[in-house]
Amino acid sequence: MTLLDQPAPVVAHTMRALTLVADRKIELLEVAAPPPPAAGEVQIAIKAIGLNHIDVWGWRGMAFAKRKLPLVVGAETAGEIRAVGAGVGGFGVGDPVVAYGGLTDGTCKACREGRDNLCENVAGIMGFHVDGFARDLINMPARLVIPVPAGIGFRDAACAPVAFATVQHMLFDNAKLEPGETILVQAGGSGIGTVAIKMAKAIGCTVITTVGDDDKAAKAKALGADHVINYRTERFEGVVRKLTAKKGVDVAFEHVGPDTFNGSLLCLKRGGRLVTCGSTSGQSTTLNLFQLYLQQYRIFGSFGASIRNIRESLDKMAAGLTPVIDTEVPLADFERGLARLESRQVFGKIIVMF
Ligand SMILES: [Zn+2]
Repeated sequence: MTLLDQPAPVVAHTMRALTLVADRKIELLEVAAPPPPAAGEVQIAIKAIGLNHIDVWGWRGMAFAKRKLPLVVGAETAGEIRAVGAGVGGFGVGDPVVAYGGLTDGTCKACREGRDNLCENVAGIMGFHVDGFARDLINMPARLVIPVPAGIGFRDAACAPVAFATVQHMLFDNAKLEPGETILVQAGGSGIGTVAIKMAKAIGCTVITTVGDDDKAAKAKALGADHVINYRTERFEGVVRKLTAKKGVDVAFEHVGPDTFNGSLLCLKRGGRLVTCGSTSGQSTTLNLFQLYLQQYRIFGSFGASIRNIRESLDKMAAGLTPVIDTEVPLADFERGLARLESRQVFGKIIVMF
């Protein structure tokens, strides 16, 4: 048989890519498909994208973010291996995977210690600073790709790299939440709020959470939250004080920002820990320094997660700690998903399916 007798390999020359072309303007473009993966890379066929607030920030436009448009969106993904580059072991065609969306160097001290989200030379966050995952095919360094255990679908796996791993990092690496402790989870209906409730309950914590309406209150209860406070009708600081017999909680899980930050601090017991990964209600707040040191509060800023946290998250999913899905939308409705996320009319995660 000569080379000419062999059927030509089927190669897709173009693919779809959801591209941010201007602030609040995303278009589904037909772009060149990637070449075969280079040495050390794998090619992933993208199946699902998880939406997060970082996507909303990127979509709105952020003056301080160094980036250039057009930009392929999507910061959190699951897919399957389409091709494996030279020298890559441990992956086979068809394997389900998720990817780490921070373009770390893999060599600095932080990376070598497994603290990937503190990489000293990170080249950007995919879908925010540099092109992201919302496209049919992508070549990724194999070191940033994590296998998905059997039994977890793409929709759920797409919640591991950002939503689950961020919470895993916040609660266990930073706040060092222990079984039996009491935690206040702000905005318990949000994507990460629902994860925090489930992860804290799974280790036997008492969970107090806040939500913005009674419908969400019922859903948060159903997730296992011990006490749910509608922050629109009750002052959560007072309720937490009552619920904890004036002692306060061990840990406060924050991501709302100025609207709740000082209230969350007030809910802590002496020596309590506040961990925050977001600030959806604004950027700045004031801080009572007397209160900070007299009460011996510990405040952790937390952003992203390590690759280890993604593995831990997938292991939790495999053991039955599944994500709460608010909505599944098709690729063409990515912006509708972002608008829904921005409106806060969500309970759980919004997933865009390919
Ligand atoms: Zn590094």
